[in-house]
Amino acid sequence: MNLIIDGGIVVSDKIIKDGAVVVEDNRIVAVGSSTELKSRYSGYERIDAEGCAVLPGLINTHTHAAMSLLRGYAEGLPLSKWLNEKIWPVEAHLKPRDIQLGAELAAYESLLFGCTTLNSMYFYYDEGNELQAFEKVGIRATVGHTFFEKTWEEGLKMTEQVVVKWHGKDNGRLRVSVCPHAPYSTGPTAYENTIRIANWLSVMYGRQYKIIIHTHAAESKDECAETSKAFNVDTKEGIISYMARRGFISPDTLIAHAIHLTDTDVELLKKYETKVSFNPVSNLKLGVGVPNAVALPEQGITVSLGTDGPASNNTLDMFETMKVISLLMKGLFFDPTLVPSINIFKYATENGGIALGYNDLGAIRPGYLADMILLDLKVPHAKPLYNIYDHLVFSARSSDVKTAIVNGRIVMENRQFPNVKLDRLLEEVEKAKEELFLRIEDSSASGKGKEA
Ligand SMILES: [Zn+2]
Repeated sequence: MNLIIDGGIVVSDKIIKDGAVVVEDNRIVAVGSSTELKSRYSGYERIDAEGCAVLPGLINTHTHAAMSLLRGYAEGLPLSKWLNEKIWPVEAHLKPRDIQLGAELAAYESLLFGCTTLNSMYFYYDEGNELQAFEKVGIRATVGHTFFEKTWEEGLKMTEQVVVKWHGKDNGRLRVSVCPHAPYSTGPTAYENTIRIANWLSVMYGRQYKIIIHTHAAESKDECAETSKAFNVDTKEGIISYMARRGFISPDTLIAHAIHLTDTDVELLKKYETKVSFNPVSNLKLGVGVPNAVALPEQGITVSLGTDGPASNNTLDMFETMKVISLLMKGLFFDPTLVPSINIFKYATENGGIALGYNDLGAIRPGYLADMILLDLKVPHAKPLYNIYDHLVFSARSSDVKTAIVNGRIVMENRQFPNVKLDRLLEEVEKAKEELFLRIEDSSASGKGKEA
């Protein structure tokens, strides 16, 4: 589709008032002033951005989209109890159809909130999975089938099948990652094989679109001790040091959380050019700590932002995430100069693209992929407007997002999804939740509760 979006404030490498962006097929081909570009591309379909900011779509680099079905289910618990006693036992009863439905809900929520790319780690089943949902909704996504110590062999086999079936589908919009869960739940043999298979998959299928490894690490302060106890490994230098010394991290690895790091851990993340995803809202909610969005970028480490799953957040709101991480840094370090809003916005956009293995995503720049959002500035909390980046981080609300474009396609316009009955989906979600808990009641009554 050929498009011209004109008349808004374009947030590109510079701020263009009354700017325009031209899209051909799935890429941005020109960025400049409205007057100039309107006459040059007069036959193109037009989106009027008057009164709006035109922004790169936000990129959520860590979530478990299907867990939207468990939003609000388990509250006020520490991470280990939350996982072992609540989340994993319930997940054992999810049907493939539930996974697809939860991911669909998450995709619509994300687009309404201005997020055009999701990086999700979950269980993949041929009969129902997140990729089917994302293909249908039109959001950009990287998805991996997560596996644990007991399931790594099946997990890596399944990953290969998912790569063959989905990686690069729809002009590179849908991509597949390799997802060992975390060092405390997935042992060294599993990680060794993960690296071996990921390298092989990269050579075979990752030339055009990179295949990344996406894993949790350094989320809780007990993680080193738990990992050491579970797998009899030396984690004294830090969890990242343990992973790095054994060759488990690389420039194509994305570490979700990266909170509890030793100095050596930080040096090794830098040395291996490993990317990180900070998830401050989930971290605060689970009481595990706060990631350091000052020290890591200072070391040159690529920091991106994520929400984590909707079960521990409880939304997929990247505007909120930007504000929370910024406020945390200012408050914790007693320094309001930390972190400039332009940097925070970059973590949520361009750095997200880099973290997911793209070199052409997350900015409004000629040659880049056409993933953009229009944000309403004709609202009281946008007036007066001094600095657009401060507005985006502190004042903008995800509900200000009007329109979303992914891979050159308008997937949401004026907060409406063409040909989609969202009400029906919301009803289906409530029904799926009720049925899930009926199944759980039935199985515990008959004593057939599966172990997660
Ligand atoms: Zn997570």
